[in-house]
Amino acid sequence: MSTIKQLYKEIEAIIGPDYITDKDFMKAAYSRNVDPAFPDRWADLIVRPSTTEEVSQIIKTANKYKIPIVPRGGGADLVGGSVSEGGILIDLTRMNHILEINDQDFYCVVECGITWGALVSNLHEKGLTTGVLGPGSGFSATIGGGLSNSTAGFGSTKYGVVPDICLGVEVVLPDPQGTIIRTGAAANKYAEPFCRYGVAPDFTGLFMGDVGTMGIKTKAYLKLFPETPFKAQKYFVLHKNDYNKVSELMYRLRKEVRDGLHDVLVVPLITAQLLASMVENKPKKRIRLKGPIFSILLEAVDKDILKKYVERVDDIMKDDARVFEWQEIDLDATLSKDWRFNLKYAYNYFNKYISIAPPKISCTTCHKVPINKIQQVAEISSNFDIINKDGFPKGSISLFATVIFLLPNGNCVIVGGFNADNVDEQREASMKMWHKKLRMQVKYGGVHYWLGEAISQSIVEADAYTPDFIRFFKNVKKSVDPNFLLSPKKFHMYSFDDDMADHIINEEEE
Ligand SMILES: Cc1cc2nc3c(=O)[nH]c(=O)nc-3n(C[C@H](O)[C@H](O)[C@H](O)COP(=O)(O)OP(=O)(O)OC[C@H]3O[C@@H](n4cnc5c(N)ncnc54)[C@H](O)[C@@H]3O)c2cc1C
Repeated sequence: MSTIKQLYKEIEAIIGPDYITDKDFMKAAYSRNVDPAFPDRWADLIVRPSTTEEVSQIIKTANKYKIPIVPRGGGADLVGGSVSEGGILIDLTRMNHILEINDQDFYCVVECGITWGALVSNLHEKGLTTGVLGPGSGFSATIGGGLSNSTAGFGSTKYGVVPDICLGVEVVLPDPQGTIIRTGAAANKYAEPFCRYGVAPDFTGLFMGDVGTMGIKTKAYLKLFPETPFKAQKYFVLHKNDYNKVSELMYRLRKEVRDGLHDVLVVPLITAQLLASMVENKPKKRIRLKGPIFSILLEAVDKDILKKYVERVDDIMKDDARVFEWQEIDLDATLSKDWRFNLKYAYNYFNKYISIAPPKISCTTCHKVPINKIQQVAEISSNFDIINKDGFPKGSISLFATVIFLLPNGNCVIVGGFNADNVDEQREASMKMWHKKLRMQVKYGGVHYWLGEAISQSIVEADAYTPDFIRFFKNVKKSVDPNFLLSPKKFHMYSFDDDMADHIINEEEE
């Protein structure tokens, strides 16, 4: 009997015959994320455990046969993170229960396969929220994916990225014992999981943004916040197309409005023009936009405080921008006075930006930079696009940013990339240019966060990590995953003896 057949039999005995498959149509269904450049990749087995103990048993079995494993939540990754070429793909979406909502001490305990949509809707009925609402893909993306990708999303301007609301996790380590550990306060077996720091070093951090390389997260302990009752949405369009002005205004908003800011998003002029050209219901009289559009969502516990926030924002924006309504370019858009926050808004918002010109899909390069660097990186980026114009797949549009999203303290996410056709002929060129563009961003100091396969590899290729850091990283990996079985291709980490530095790419030689 082949190793895979033997593995099948043993895992089937752990989780039952309904939750394991090696059928081609199932492998095909699980062969992709939302990333266009990768070819389809088929796992040998797809398994759907329902408990932490089952995950642990699967890990033990995989170690016995030295078979690689890749964890998958909603599969909404954009960078090849949750697919597996051969080996075992562990779909965690059966582990989708809310185990505790503690509305007195403001935390909850959930299984990591629950979607953001399911969790946030349930909390909303109880007047609670996780603050950051997870990614734009939150109707299908899971809490486990959000923690593993250090996801940013609605609420991130105020509440930070997903790991910032995490108080600890339950994780199955990929070691031969399938060890189960809990981090944060939960590392103290007598304590409730109510806080992150203390008891031991912050081992929670080891599993945040790890893109599923350090362990399989089965439960998460998350902060809760009471819903903030008063919200207001304001839009402004700048008089000039000037990124220095964008930085200056972001700085003033951060400094002067602070906690009142729920979200600050900036839609660059070129993106706004593209969107305007694509809408179905255009106004007869076309307006000429001259600069980026600021979308500012404010929140407060009190009506009068909200009013003060609105006045402060109006004052900050008054010299450089005018009030804007999306109806100026799209008659179907909601007016800001009629605007109401709902999950559909948060979880559909990025759909239009991810591909920008349907039916194409994006090679995304989202990364963080300090707000005062926006103009500088915009210039580097557009120079790169000009110099490399012949390398992009035919017909693709490369944008420095489709949206710029303010995060806590003074950093922001540049949501950008280029698009390509989801066809075999464009894959090689897309993949090559994607990695090259990512390396360029790493070298100007950009910090990517959903790293998957494409981006984690590009960081290594760009020679970002020092030899000491690589040694530390590999030693830590070895201590949790001595056989290097979990998510082996990410970070170009294939075995302990393999030298990650072999994958550094010297751009001049390309
Ligand atoms: C339309 C659209 C909008 C998006 N908007 C955003 C956005 O606003 N912000 C943002 O950051 N991202 C966004 N994304 C990217 C992506 O959807 C998110 O990062 C999301 O958090 C991924 O969650 P998931 O459950 O789908 O993860 P998956 O795609 O299943 O997995 C993502 C990574 O996490 C690992 N993983 C998943 N679950 C576990 C687990 N339990 N334990 C260990 N490792 C695990 C996987 O191996 C993989 O590397 C968007 C994608 C799309 C298609």
